[in-house]
Amino acid sequence: MIKQKKNGELIIISGTTCAGKGSVIEKLLERNKNLSLSLSYTSRPIRAGEVDGVDYKFISHEEFEEKIKKGDFLEYAKVRYGEYFGTPKEEVKRLLSTGKDVILEIDVQGAQQIKELFPETILIFIMAPSMSEVKKRIKIRGKETKDQVLDRFITAYKEINEIPKYNYVVINDELEKAVEKVEAILLSEKCRVDRIEEISVENQEEFMHELLMDSDFTNESISNKIS
Ligand code: 5GP
Repeated sequence: MIKQKKNGELIIISGTTCAGKGSVIEKLLERNKNLSLSLSYTSRPIRAGEVDGVDYKFISHEEFEEKIKKGDFLEYAKVRYGEYFGTPKEEVKRLLSTGKDVILEIDVQGAQQIKELFPETILIFIMAPSMSEVKKRIKIRGKETKDQVLDRFITAYKEINEIPKYNYVVINDELEKAVEKVEAILLSEKCRVDRIEEISVENQEEFMHELLMDSDFTNESISNKIS
């Protein structure tokens, strides 16, 4: 009865440092088989524990700039320490055309570029419950210098100012609840009238006739009401 658009939806998930967006996305992908995550390219150095082709496609600065020239990116930005991050155009187009909903885990600059290109994109911002909680999470991770931590907080405060450009904000105080909130957003977005290609119901005349002829309805009241 309801024909949905064949193409999948484009979903952007951004968030402040240590908001746990990676964990939210991981759970979403586990539980929703129609969702897929676009793998970004980056020029930043690979970190211990990261895998090329899993966390990012790691390429050099020069290779990244070559790809920019060729128009290979849907969006790209210099995110931190002058390093490039970008979303591959062809791969996202391919995934959307198979009907998959595609998540882009990108920063606020990239989100803005995509929103301008595709205004129907769903933009979700994930936040930790407080900056003190972020400080706690960074301390537990304990991998960074004070300068790096300060830089993370400067970026976080800047990103928070950009929240009005998003459609939804989700506070990640408890992972399970945050995932449920994102699932609820995606579910309701699917039901939006402007995301439905066609609504068709049975032909009225034929259906009414069938109803009148239906011997399961024997009392007079139904035919009286119709005629
Ligand atoms: P990192 O992986 O270095 O911890 O953080 C990378 C930052 O860059 C995150 O804020 C992430 O959302 C963002 N990012 C990752 N991939 C892309 C991308 O393809 N485009 C843009 N604009 N940002 C990205």
